[in-house]
Amino acid sequence: MSSIVLFGPPGAGKGTQAERIMTSTGLPQVSTGDMLRAAVKDQTPTGIEAKEYMEAGKLVPDSIIIELIKQRIKLPDAVNGVMFDGFPRTVPQAEALSEITDVSHVIAIEVPDERIVDRICGRYSCASCGLVFHETFNPVPKSGCSCGNFVEKRRADDNKDTVLSRLSAYHEQTSPLAEWYENLGIFHRINGDREIDLISHDILLALEN
Ligand code: AMP
Repeated sequence: MSSIVLFGPPGAGKGTQAERIMTSTGLPQVSTGDMLRAAVKDQTPTGIEAKEYMEAGKLVPDSIIIELIKQRIKLPDAVNGVMFDGFPRTVPQAEALSEITDVSHVIAIEVPDERIVDRICGRYSCASCGLVFHETFNPVPKSGCSCGNFVEKRRADDNKDTVLSRLSAYHEQTSPLAEWYENLGIFHRINGDREIDLISHDILLALEN
């Protein structure tokens, strides 16, 4: 079993690309952000603990995240590997992951900091199917979402103040992981500041190698 990691700052387009990679590879998307948002909504003990970190744009403690992943990876759909989106985000998370499953590719979607705020503050998703859109760069078609039941949803942490904290957490705690994965020879840098289709094309090419 071999998995893929989607790596990059908040707002790099990991969720959008995950949808496409999922269609091409068949690997299920495992987004720790989505799992935490579901836990917050359901008011589980994990959700109650995670909420304040998420609202402040800080990383949720490693012990919580690693436990979530250990449970998720046991589900039957993970048997041939998964596509991690937003995990790992710290060195201890990467160390834990290396004991849980093999990672064949780390796809780093790179977007300059100055583009991140606009990208995050304009984004929304379809509450019915989860597809992600953007006011300027990728608006929902006039005919509505392809699922046929568009309901606009915005994330509570997609605001200017929280974005800046999330970016600092990325630079301080997550970006050191690039070197860790580069040393393993599985790190692929992709320019994420382009059209969505061009990015997907390059990601799929990287996954073939
Ligand atoms: P995301 O949807 O990936 O942008 O994550 C939203 C928020 O969930 C982050 O700002 C963190 O507070 C938390 N989070 C998601 N994944 C992780 C992770 N792997 N480690 C720590 N915190 C996380």
